[in-house]
Amino acid sequence: MHFLYDNDARFVFNFIRSAINYNCNAVNYVESLRSVRNTQGEWQTQLRNTRNGETFEVRSTVIINACGPYVDQQNKISELTTEHRHVFSKGIHLIVPRITKNERVLTFFADDGRLFFAIPMGNRTMVGTTDNRVSTPETEVTTEDRHFVLDNINKRLNLAKPLTEVDIISERCGVRPLVIKTGDQNNKNEEWIKLSRKHAVDVDWERKHISIFGGKLTDCLNVGEEICEVVQQLGTHLPYPKRKWYGEPHEAIRDEYLHQVHLMGLDELTSAGASEVLSKRLWRRYGAQAIGLLENIRENPDMVEPLIEGSDYIRCELTQATRREMIVTLEDFLRRRSKLALVARHEDLKNSQGIKDACEILFGEDAPERWSEYFGE
Ligand SMILES: Cc1cc2nc3c(=O)[nH]c(=O)nc-3n(C[C@H](O)[C@H](O)[C@H](O)COP(=O)(O)OP(=O)(O)OC[C@H]3O[C@@H](n4cnc5c(N)ncnc54)[C@H](O)[C@@H]3O)c2cc1C
Repeated sequence: MHFLYDNDARFVFNFIRSAINYNCNAVNYVESLRSVRNTQGEWQTQLRNTRNGETFEVRSTVIINACGPYVDQQNKISELTTEHRHVFSKGIHLIVPRITKNERVLTFFADDGRLFFAIPMGNRTMVGTTDNRVSTPETEVTTEDRHFVLDNINKRLNLAKPLTEVDIISERCGVRPLVIKTGDQNNKNEEWIKLSRKHAVDVDWERKHISIFGGKLTDCLNVGEEICEVVQQLGTHLPYPKRKWYGEPHEAIRDEYLHQVHLMGLDELTSAGASEVLSKRLWRRYGAQAIGLLENIRENPDMVEPLIEGSDYIRCELTQATRREMIVTLEDFLRRRSKLALVARHEDLKNSQGIKDACEILFGEDAPERWSEYFGE
């Protein structure tokens, strides 16, 4: 079983970053409005920049609809029918102060018989999840969800002080798109519980359209390979050799990194509140790029200071974020790249000088606007 939560946004972004390095054009904050097939047999897709409202069009021979929970909605707009469709299962997690010194993921069965986890997340613990059928992808955490998670963790662990809502630092909420056949109703509870988490790929061979339904993040490389196969069968030659998508850089790079770490005594600079030593953190998150961060620290030792007290994110990581991480909003930075909004309370972020500095470094003269967009001031 794989657990990605501690770092799943980072894991996904590293794929995007690698794809850009391999010559892919990746854009964010661009929405696909509709795709139509023109008389020359090409797809014309209307796109909208959601930040400034500008619209434009791209042409392609093949379309891959990988809109997650929105696959059906997008297909409907483009007038496509498919063999499969989605139903939605809502899952929430609560992030609380670390509840055990144990570094392992703790696994239980919840009251409803489903798996339930306490996952270490630095100085925090992420607890959950729920698995409730919902009718749309837009959901939020309800009081009932919170009580379910708190009651279950309190029953399963003998904590010195039971967790209450006051202990909640942040929350996560999402829907798992689960795959069923288009004609199936799936109304019975026992059918719902048994639904597979495996993905399905539907291909409209004539119109050259591919839809990806459901699936697990841990299976994403296999899904990618399956899609490349189909794209080639649809007549598009993929000229690229197989690429390396994950794993550590070459041993020689790691040895060089560790040598430099040792010479500059990096780990002795780790802050008291950090949950892991600096050399481990930087290597885990940035791989070969971490050598560049060492250079920043040598030039300015203040760069090892945590951006906000008690967090692991240090100032030099911001230089990396500004250049390489496609950050458009403060939420991108706090929630999707650095995880700070998961491990610190909203009010603490708002009052933090480190976050104000980060906002200025990231957005320059647009910083006040980006700040009020996130904190609502
Ligand atoms: C509570 C929960 C727990 C989970 N646990 C695990 C786990 O333990 N292990 C695991 O492997 N997986 C887990 N998953 C599943 C995992 O999150 C998904 O498998 C994965 O996110 C699917 O990736 P995707 O790219 O297909 O879809 P998504 O991650 O949903 O990405 C779809 C993207 O399409 C974008 N989009 C939608 N409509 C449009 C449009 N019109 N134009 C442009 N873009 C659009 C969306 O903004 C989104 O960024 C869990 C999911 C949830 C909700």
